[in-house]
Amino acid sequence: MDLSQIEEMCRENGSFCEFNHILAPNTSMKIGGPCDAFVKVTNEKALLEVVKLCRSENIPHFILGKGSNLLISGKGLRGCVIALSSEEPNITVNGGEITAWAGATLHSVCLAALNNSLTGLEFAYGIPGSLGGALFMNAGAYGGEIKDVVRSCRYIDEKGELREMSAEDMQLSYRSSVFSCRNYVITSVTLELTTGDSAAIKARMEELMQRRRDKQPLEFPSCGSTFKRPEGYFAAALIEECGLKGYTVGGAQVSSKHSGFVINRGGATFEDVMAVVDEVKRVVLEKKGVQLECEMLILK
Ligand SMILES: Cc1cc2nc3c(=O)[nH]c(=O)nc-3n(C[C@H](O)[C@H](O)[C@H](O)COP(=O)(O)OP(=O)(O)OC[C@H]3O[C@@H](n4cnc5c(N)ncnc54)[C@H](O)[C@@H]3O)c2cc1C
Repeated sequence: MDLSQIEEMCRENGSFCEFNHILAPNTSMKIGGPCDAFVKVTNEKALLEVVKLCRSENIPHFILGKGSNLLISGKGLRGCVIALSSEEPNITVNGGEITAWAGATLHSVCLAALNNSLTGLEFAYGIPGSLGGALFMNAGAYGGEIKDVVRSCRYIDEKGELREMSAEDMQLSYRSSVFSCRNYVITSVTLELTTGDSAAIKARMEELMQRRRDKQPLEFPSCGSTFKRPEGYFAAALIEECGLKGYTVGGAQVSSKHSGFVINRGGATFEDVMAVVDEVKRVVLEKKGVQLECEMLILK
C-alpha cells in the first residue's frame, strides 16, 4: 500500500496527516490501536479528494466522526482513517433550516438552534457525536431522533460523485440508515426546525443534560448505550435483573450507575470489553430469553 500520495495530497490541501496514528484518543471508549494513515479534513473538497484517492488506489478507508459509537481493536485499522474535523463546523441558518458540515458536533448545532430560537433538536443536546455520525446512526434520545428533523444531506456516492439526498430516501429507522448499508460519505446535513421560545428551548436542553448527568456514568469512557433497545424491553433493566450490574473483566465493567453502559474504568482492552459484552449477552439470553444486539459498532 503506497500511502505517499495521501501525504502529498494532504500537504497540498492543508489536511492533517499522520502515519501509524493511535486511534484510542479519537474514540470516546479510549480504546483502539494504530491505523496506517490518519487524515483529518475540515471541508467537503478535501474530504472528496482523499476519498477519491483511497478508492482509486484501493486503499481501505474508514470515515470517523467523533468516535463516540466505536469499539476499535488493539490491532487498529488497516489503510486510511479519514476523520472529519469539528474545528470548522460551517453552520448556516436560513429561516428554520440549519445546514452544517458533517463533522460539526451535535453540540455546536444544538447551540446554533438555540441561538436562533429554533426548536426540535433539544433531544440531541448531550449526544457526543458529529452531525454526520448522528445521521448515519439515526441517533436519538428522550423521544426524539434525527429522522424527525433531517431534511436532506450532501454525500459522496459509490462512484465518487457529490450528490444530494432527501430525508425520504435515507431509510431512517431505529439506529439505522441507508448510510449504514451503502458506501456513502455524508459531507453536510440540513435540518428543518421550527421557531420556538429560546428560554423554553434552553430549559429543555439543560433538563435533558441534567438527566444524563444524573443517570449516566459520564465520568468514564464509554460508547453510551452498549446495546440496542430490544423490542418490548429495556436493555439496562434486563441486565440489572440478571445480576450483572458491576460485572467486570479487566478494565471493562457494566456500569453500576447505568447497567446499559459498558465503561472503561481505566486500561480496558478491546478484549476486556468484548468479554463483558459476550457474557452479558449470554446470561440475558439464558435467563430472560432475549437476544441483545450491540448498538456500538465493533471494528476488529
Ligand atoms: C456518553 C455517551 C452518550 C451517548 N448517548 C447517545 C444517545 O442518547 N443517543 C444515541 O443515539 N447515541 C448516543 N451515543 C452514541 C453516539 O454518540 C452516537 O451514535 C453518535 O451519533 C455517533 O456519532 P459519531 O460522530 O461519534 O460517529 P462515529 O462513532 O465516529 O461513527 C459511527 C459510524 O458512523 C460512520 N460515520 C460517521 N460520520 C460519517 C460521515 N460523515 N459519513 C458516513 N459515515 C459516517 C462511521 O464510519 C461509523 O460507522 C452516546 C455515546 C456516548 C459516549
